[in-house]
Amino acid sequence: MSLADQLSGLALESAAQPQFSNQVARDGDEPPSPTPSSPRQRKTYSIDTELVFTEHNDQFKSSSMPLYQTATFKQDSLSNMGEYDYTRSGNPTRSHLERHLTRITPGAVRSLVVSSGMTALDVITRLLKPGDEVIAGDDLYGGTNRLVKYLATSGGITAHHVDTTNVEAVRAVASPKTAMILLESPTNPLIKIADIAALAKVVHDAAPDALVVVDNTMLSPLLMSPLELGADIVYESGTKYLSGHHDLMAGAIMVRDHKVGDRLFFVVNASGCGLAPFECWLLERGLKTLGIRMEKQQRNAQFIADFLESAGFKVRYPGLRSHPQYDLHWQQSRGAGAVLSLETGDVELSERIVEGTHIWGISVSFGCVNSLISMPCKMSHASIDAKTRKERDFPEDLIRLCVGIENPDDLLDDLKTALIKAGAVKINVDGSVIRLPPATA
Ligand code: PLP
Repeated sequence: MSLADQLSGLALESAAQPQFSNQVARDGDEPPSPTPSSPRQRKTYSIDTELVFTEHNDQFKSSSMPLYQTATFKQDSLSNMGEYDYTRSGNPTRSHLERHLTRITPGAVRSLVVSSGMTALDVITRLLKPGDEVIAGDDLYGGTNRLVKYLATSGGITAHHVDTTNVEAVRAVASPKTAMILLESPTNPLIKIADIAALAKVVHDAAPDALVVVDNTMLSPLLMSPLELGADIVYESGTKYLSGHHDLMAGAIMVRDHKVGDRLFFVVNASGCGLAPFECWLLERGLKTLGIRMEKQQRNAQFIADFLESAGFKVRYPGLRSHPQYDLHWQQSRGAGAVLSLETGDVELSERIVEGTHIWGISVSFGCVNSLISMPCKMSHASIDAKTRKERDFPEDLIRLCVGIENPDDLLDDLKTALIKAGAVKINVDGSVIRLPPATA
């Protein structure tokens, strides 16, 4: 269906909207909602540079993108409509951010920003229709699991939850009825790696029109480019690394095909879930430091993971050689990220460790400059019932660490203190750490 066809089905407040579609048709490779602040043609730089380098044509040459905190835009006349008329349909601050995301996402031709990561998935799954089949990982984020379950019980969708680390398990359920596959890599919090290129091929071979959808929240565009590995849509919770400070909720969707982008934009405009201007402005500001934050967070995460592994804990982190899919992860990614998890062997011991930290905040979510600690079974993944968690080998004692940018020695000291207080380890006089078996704790 052409964009013009889609738009003709809309009861738009936006008389200016068809101008966007003309713009798309004329420019081909540019997203709609063109903004005077985003030049169309220029040399592209490496992602670290693109993160901070944004040009715009603001009349006062403001250093940061102006915030258009407005719902409506006045028109010159009834016959001469401007580029923007109503913020639900388009806003220059949002357009600027969307174009920026497109530039920093290899393989993307268009981006859309919406009110949360879950909204991004909601928009994407509106492309499904009753009777469609969806393949979903068995270790997806709890909220994703909840939405897929809702679609399966109330939306006429058939969902196949399989272990996406196993390409053959996906091949076994892929069929011409497959309309979508939902992938995460690394998964959160079991840190399982999915072979995105192989899975995209399996699904596209079985159903050429199926959409391969990757939630790239754990790595961000800096560390993995799913669209270049064969995915059709990549989305992220902008609440996490993209913004970096846990001061906003946002979702970002990036596509490699304009037709898919047009269908998604239809949903965003029709449902009114586009990201509000102030959140766009904040997210744009956060993006500028993504490179430096991620670099420090990864370094700290590796330091903590090395310590915990040497102390004898089972640690899941793709920066450790002991990770069973270490090679696969590094084939498709440029870094290990900053989320790791560990098992203690005892739920109550894990609870004591989590509650014994001071710098590490007990909090859901990740991607913040502050270090966070949590027990997924009781927090972010509590929406997955205990029986399903058991079926999926989800350890109830799992502790998730989301490492921030603090001084690494402070982070380690704080964690060591919590481990000692909880009875998980003892420190010898020579400073070496001895892991205590859970029973003695
Ligand atoms: N994807 C992953 C991997 C997440 O961890 C989360 C939230 O924790 C989401 C998506 C949902 O994002 P949001 O909380 O912004 O809706």
